[in-house]
Order: sequence, then C-alpha cells, then structure tokens
Amino acid sequence: MGKDRDFMAAARGLHQQLIAWRRDFHAHPELGFEEKRTAGIVADTLGELGYRVETGIAKTGVIGLLEGTKSGPTVMIRFDMDALPITEENETDYVSQNPGVMHACGHDAHVAIGLGVATLMAQYRDEIGGTVKLVFQPGEEGMNGAEVMVAEGALEDPRPDVFLATHVWNDKPTGIIDVTPGAVMAAAERWACTVRGKGGHGALPHQTVDPVVIAAQIVMALQTIVSRNVNPLETAVVTVGTINGGDAFNIIPNQVELTGTIRTYNPEVREMVLQRLRQVAEDIAAAHGAEADVTLTPLTPAVINDAQVAEHVRAAAQAVVGPDNISVGERTMGSEDAAFFMQDVPGCYFFLGSADPARGLNAPHHNSHFDIDEEALALGVAVMMRAAAHYLL
Ligand SMILES: [Zn+2]
Ligand SMILES: [Zn+2]
Repeated sequence: MGKDRDFMAAARGLHQQLIAWRRDFHAHPELGFEEKRTAGIVADTLGELGYRVETGIAKTGVIGLLEGTKSGPTVMIRFDMDALPITEENETDYVSQNPGVMHACGHDAHVAIGLGVATLMAQYRDEIGGTVKLVFQPGEEGMNGAEVMVAEGALEDPRPDVFLATHVWNDKPTGIIDVTPGAVMAAAERWACTVRGKGGHGALPHQTVDPVVIAAQIVMALQTIVSRNVNPLETAVVTVGTINGGDAFNIIPNQVELTGTIRTYNPEVREMVLQRLRQVAEDIAAAHGAEADVTLTPLTPAVINDAQVAEHVRAAAQAVVGPDNISVGERTMGSEDAAFFMQDVPGCYFFLGSADPARGLNAPHHNSHFDIDEEALALGVAVMMRAAAHYLL
C-alpha cells in the first residue's frame, strides 16, 4: 500500500455509498448490546469483502480480519455502533424509525466510515504488509462494551501493535481534524456516599445527628478538592450528581445518600482525588458524630494518545486536509471506553470535525437535534486509511 496513494480520491469515490450506509444506520438506531441489525450488515459486508469475520463478541460485536500478502504489524481500528435513548426531533428523510432511540452521538457515521475503510483496505490487499483488524464495538455509551470485548479476547489472535479510533465531532467544523498527544478523554469513576446520622423530630434537632446538614457540608468541602488540593496545572472534576434524603418537612432523616462522578487525566491526580473524597466525607461526618460510607467504582480509564502514533496520525491528517486544518489540543472530561483497548496498545484517538453551522448541522452530541455534515465521512475514511498505511506499507 503506497503511502502516496490518493486516499482522499478513493474515499470520495465511496461518497454516495458512505452516505447511504450512514443514513440507513441513522434511520435504524439500536441501543448498546442490541445492535443486531447493524452488526448483521457489518458482518455481511465484511464477509463479502473477503474478511475473516468473527461475530457475537460482547453480544453484538464484530471483528473483521484482513491479512495482507506480506508480513507486518497488526493495525486495529475501532468503530462503535450503539445509539442513545433519545427521541429524535430532526425532520429528515433518514430520521430514526425506532421511537425513543437515536444516533445522537454519530456512531452511525462511525460504522459507515468503518465499512468505507474495510472497502478500501480490501482493494489494496495485495500491497498490505501486515494485518488489518477492524473492530465494530457495541455499547460505548456508558456500557463499557470495549471492556467486555477485551475480556472476550478482542485484543488476542492477533494482538494489535497499533490502535486507531476516531469520533465525529460537532464542536469543530468539517475539514478540521484534531490530533492531540497525551490524555484526550478522562478517567471516570462513580462515587456514592451514605451519611448515617440519627433521625428525629424537626423541632428537636438537639436529639438528633442531622445527616442533611452534614451532607451539605460534605458537598461544599468536596469543592475544595479541585480548588485547593489539585495542582492548578492539572485537571480534575468532582461532581455531586444526586442528593437524596428525608421524607417530610418536619422530620430529620436517619441518612442522606449522595452520588457523583470524578474525572481525571493523570493517574496520580486520580489517586489523590479519590483519597481526598473519602477522607473529606468520612472526617466531616465523624466531626458531627455521624458516619459516612464511601464507595468508589472505576468506570473507564483515561484515553491517552501515544505521542509517536499521534504524530503519524497528525501527518496523515495533514496530508488529507492540509496543515491549516489540523488542530491540536482538543480534550474533554467526558470518558470513552476505547481506553480499554489502549491500555497496553499504543494508539491514537482523534476528533473528526463534522459541523456545518451554515446548514444548522452543529447541534451538540447527545442532543435530540444532533446531525452531522456528511462531508466528514469521506475525510474520516481517507485519514484512517492514510494513518494505517503508515504501518502497513
Ligand atoms: Zn456519546
Ligand atoms: Zn460517541
């Protein structure tokens, strides 16, 4: 596969097919681990293209393997397939036909890009030195489908040497591609805290240990973890998402429950924030004669782009869109389970601009009006092809 091939021209040749795929998936969205129709189309298409196809990984996941004619590294490219429980409010002829379910994050575009990459890779098969491993993943939206796929052997046989993934990105216009080395998506944890006091009459507080007042102090004190404990040059979020306690206006309850999330990039900062959250909650409760039980549940590790792989992807993207359209520095405290594939495999997760504000195609992700500029599809295929070509030449 010559590095100098015009992958953009090849991808443009697929333009109508990419749009047809994307609109079909958009009209037929499926929730995580239920992507049966989508996975069926993916498996059939990969089979027709000559891939060795494995289905049913993490319920609906599909892996397609294409071995080149020469030996070389294994490049794994991942595309997520799931939609969201949102009622679509767009008025297009490809609007969701599945009430209450919508491709509001753009994973329909990812599957289309994946099939485009699969098509072009098959065309260049005779020149490939190495193996293309395309992974179509279920349940990215808060379900950790990637973790399940890894547990079911997705990183074995063959083990990838490089990992690539992309996300269409409505925070950037079409044509802009962001490739950022280092952390780009945060590690996420769920935390829960039960403050146990002693309930009683709302008019007789001296007979109680009031968990409402203690919980309020804990909520305020948690704000100082980011503002006073985390190095100002580092990044962290501590959010309280729910507070529940009490049944009546004149009764002090026995306990109050808090839940929330913690987001960090740096593992050392993560450890410190987790430890401080526990200490702040437990010690404030103790100071008032109450108890706080804190549980911390890790959800997703951080997505950390390997500097060298990111440099190759940046060069590939620059060859497609030109130096003026490369952006560096897009980061979000959102999480992304691609991190499970990237823990031991050097990789790069890049953002593919997909907004066209002039046509109103710039609604935020997870919004009921979300839609993308389909010009991004061919760009995604071209950049992915060129980035993979670096390794498979
Ligand atoms: Zn999403
Ligand atoms: Zn997404």
